[in-house]
Amino acid sequence: MDASVYWDDTHRLLRDTLRRFVEREVVPQAPAWEEQGFVPREVLREMGRCGFLGLRYPEQYNGGGMNALATALLGEELGRSGFGGFAATVLVHTDMASPHLARAGSPAQLERWMPGIVAGDLITAVAVTEPDAGSDVKAIRTTARRVGGAWLLRGTKTFITNGALADLVFVAAKTDPGAGAKGVSMFALGRGARGFSVGRRLDKMGWRCSDTAELVFEDAPAELLGEEGRGFYAIMRNFQNERIALAAMAMGESARALALTLEYVRTRKAFGGTLWDKQAVRQRLAQLAARVEAGRELVYRAAWLDAQGADCVKEVSMAKAYCGELTNEVMYDCLQFHGGFGYMRGSHIERMVRDARVQSIGGGATEVMLEEVAKRL
Ligand SMILES: Cc1cc2nc3c(=O)[nH]c(=O)nc-3n(C[C@H](O)[C@H](O)[C@H](O)COP(=O)(O)OP(=O)(O)OC[C@H]3O[C@@H](n4cnc5c(N)ncnc54)[C@H](O)[C@@H]3O)c2cc1C
Repeated sequence: MDASVYWDDTHRLLRDTLRRFVEREVVPQAPAWEEQGFVPREVLREMGRCGFLGLRYPEQYNGGGMNALATALLGEELGRSGFGGFAATVLVHTDMASPHLARAGSPAQLERWMPGIVAGDLITAVAVTEPDAGSDVKAIRTTARRVGGAWLLRGTKTFITNGALADLVFVAAKTDPGAGAKGVSMFALGRGARGFSVGRRLDKMGWRCSDTAELVFEDAPAELLGEEGRGFYAIMRNFQNERIALAAMAMGESARALALTLEYVRTRKAFGGTLWDKQAVRQRLAQLAARVEAGRELVYRAAWLDAQGADCVKEVSMAKAYCGELTNEVMYDCLQFHGGFGYMRGSHIERMVRDARVQSIGGGATEVMLEEVAKRL
């Protein structure tokens, strides 16, 4: 692992262990997962046994007690697999969905669900986006109304990662539809709950081994998670973590694409030499390598600031915007240097180009991130 002010021996060990796991247990199997459209539960359980699913959670739940640097590290190494759908499956569980429970759950909810989450027995999803509300979270229309002692959810969510297969879903709903952001609350409910169904499983351009679904709530009973009316703020706070994970993942994917391309251009012959002999090719790769290093440092710094408890919305948004765009540029050029081979179905780079496209959209579109930066300049 590169020398860096951010990493200690624990991080180095974690990175090595993760990298070995990904190379042995993910890369050879993942093409089959892409075909079937989901990551097998046994793999997630194995990740739980290795301790990868609870890096951020306290020891009392068998977690690693680490901070946001662990999220960056996990995101980068899972991204380095080159299978965005696998990385998304895991990161949504560890760093986007389950933090809602970890931060706001009651002692009884934590006791009931955290051990299963860390073990990989209980996979989670977070459902905020709706057909008519994505970037603009406070425009959601799903409602939660109190009937007797229970909360009943009504509405439709879309693009939900782990949506069809998750055991536990954290859902944003309006408890006071006239109150804007202050009217949003978070809820938890389990798969199989009355009135809760998977509408459609969604077919995607990339991230094919990630299960993405539409969820339908028809007076589904759910538990309030945290305080009523604090859901919007919980979502905004968790977005920081989510964006660190996604930006790191984008840099891991980019590093893999560059490595694959370097290998290719060093052996591919053209015009009396290798492609690497062409200055235009090697300089473009050198330029991209420099920018990926810059992107990684942006992510690490944002994660470090988060770990210090600093307000780092600007830095996190910069990292998400920069890395989400950069990975698409990297993929474009890497495919270019693979020539026609790169355009063929089944080549790694072809899949990685498709996977990368969502990085400038999901978890905060680039334009939305740049607005967050602009407000703070
Ligand atoms: C594969 C996948 C997985 C996902 N997983 C989840 C999940 O698990 N849970 C969940 O809740 N959501 C999930 N999402 C939803 C994702 O977070 C949203 O797609 C994203 O926030 C953008 O919302 P939208 O698609 O409704 O686009 P819109 O909000 O309609 O925006 C469309 C485009 O308009 C532009 N735009 C938007 N706002 C502005 C602005 N203020 N200024 C300038 N331009 C702007 C951007 O280019 C943006 O891409 C997932 C999406 C995908 C594709």
